[in-house]
Amino acid sequence: MIIDFNKNNDGLVPAIIQDANTRKVLMLGYMNEEAYYKTLDTKQVTFYSRSKNRLWTKGEESGNSLNLVDIKVDCDNDTLLILVNPDGPTCHKGTDTCWAESNEQTFGFLSQLEDVIKNRKDNSKSDKSYVALLFEKGINKIAQKVGEEAVEMVIEAKDSNSDLFLNESADLLFHYLILLQAKGYSLKDIVEVLKSRH
Ligand code: AMP
Ligand code: ZN
Ligand code: ZN
Ligand code: ZN
Repeated sequence: MIIDFNKNNDGLVPAIIQDANTRKVLMLGYMNEEAYYKTLDTKQVTFYSRSKNRLWTKGEESGNSLNLVDIKVDCDNDTLLILVNPDGPTCHKGTDTCWAESNEQTFGFLSQLEDVIKNRKDNSKSDKSYVALLFEKGINKIAQKVGEEAVEMVIEAKDSNSDLFLNESADLLFHYLILLQAKGYSLKDIVEVLKSRH
């Protein structure tokens, strides 16, 4: 791998640390050539600390190490993206990331949708939305809706109208998210099961 350690005339390149699993950015550090090779050798992420003026293996005091998964170099060879499995919280202030975020798996828009659905469930007594009413009717009714939407999707799968198929697929996924919420689960739990089989 070609890495331009001398772009800034200090022998250091920024290293963005990303969780290989959740894809959350955990921290930013700097590496010199020695830190880079030590990281490769030991599989424990090692930086060059600008304050300590020495190699610094993350976790050397706290035990909160970063286990190397992969290293990628950017388009012009001057920045590293380091994929890791972290042991414990990465920030020395105790949070999962240095931006005080939790290192939880999220699924972009689907997670936003899950939040909206959870909100409807939590307020189902006062909220009169379609989703809130479904929660009021209970799990059996919601499960039945999932079954109906699945059948509708199957019917459209046999047809060549892609618009109808896509819409029924969306209905199914939407009602599936509602069922997961009603059962007290989320997509994250299902993804865990899938990963354990992988
Ligand atoms: P550790 O490497 O986790 O044993 O932490 C040792 C010291 O490194 C801490 O006391 C902090 O000064 C510093 N440190 C640890 N983690 C970070 C971080 N994510 N960002 C900046 N400094 C850190
Ligand atoms: Zn660059
Ligand atoms: Zn921090
Ligand atoms: Zn439908």
